[in-house]
Amino acid sequence: MPDAAPPTVSPLTTSAPGGDEAFPGFVVAIDGPSGSGKSSVSKQVARELGYGFLDTGAMYRSLTWWCLDTGVDLDDADAVTAAARELPLHIGTDPDDPTVTVGDTDVTAGIRESRISEQVSKVAVVIPVRELLRDQQRRLIADASGERGGVVAEGRDITTVVAPDAPVRILLTASEEARLARRSTELHGAADAGSVAATRAQVLGRDAADSTVSQFSVAADGVTTVDTSDLDFAGSVAAVLQVVAAARA
Ligand code: C5P
Repeated sequence: MPDAAPPTVSPLTTSAPGGDEAFPGFVVAIDGPSGSGKSSVSKQVARELGYGFLDTGAMYRSLTWWCLDTGVDLDDADAVTAAARELPLHIGTDPDDPTVTVGDTDVTAGIRESRISEQVSKVAVVIPVRELLRDQQRRLIADASGERGGVVAEGRDITTVVAPDAPVRILLTASEEARLARRSTELHGAADAGSVAATRAQVLGRDAADSTVSQFSVAADGVTTVDTSDLDFAGSVAAVLQVVAAARA
């Protein structure tokens, strides 16, 4: 008998629907840079539509957390890929309970820590890791959209790679100034010059590293840009819902 695979709630090696295969429900794909508000906006849009919600960034963050927890060198691409194959990840797709666990550990809050944000790009630029996570993301999108009639999936490559045939594809952007102010408020509770300066390196450095493997600064063909620079949270949610409504009409 072959060796038993390690127990995983949702194994990353499981085959998944191909990119050209239609998902069973309505898929809203949203990409954007750090600080564009895509996670919170996407979650609220999913709630209002009664859809599932998939935060793909949480999957890259979970892998980073797992590597750090188990002593895997993040600069060793082969070791990180091996860790991705065994990652015992479970990610909730209920927008009211997007709990993330790795093995028995609830990492929902832990994966948001700065030590993860600062290193997650090392994992995200490993191509075999992206392929493993992409397959898993397609399977999660298929399951969540089948269960709820639709899903809002957000990340960096959802509109271009993971679900390029989604009926709604949105690039959520905001000016650099607006994005830095938002992240600074999240991290430091303020957006004064000093706090923004402290945030700048992390936000811009992460986007620069991530953009070596995903294109999320300019909308791809057929992708609708929603610029939230001058919109508050409710306005951003309304703008996305408007794009969805137009597509469904
Ligand atoms: O969206 P969030 O900031 O949580 O994403 C964390 C990181 O995960 C990104 O900086 C990027 O390195 C990676 N990511 C990715 N592709 C996605 C989603 C996230 O490479 N679809």
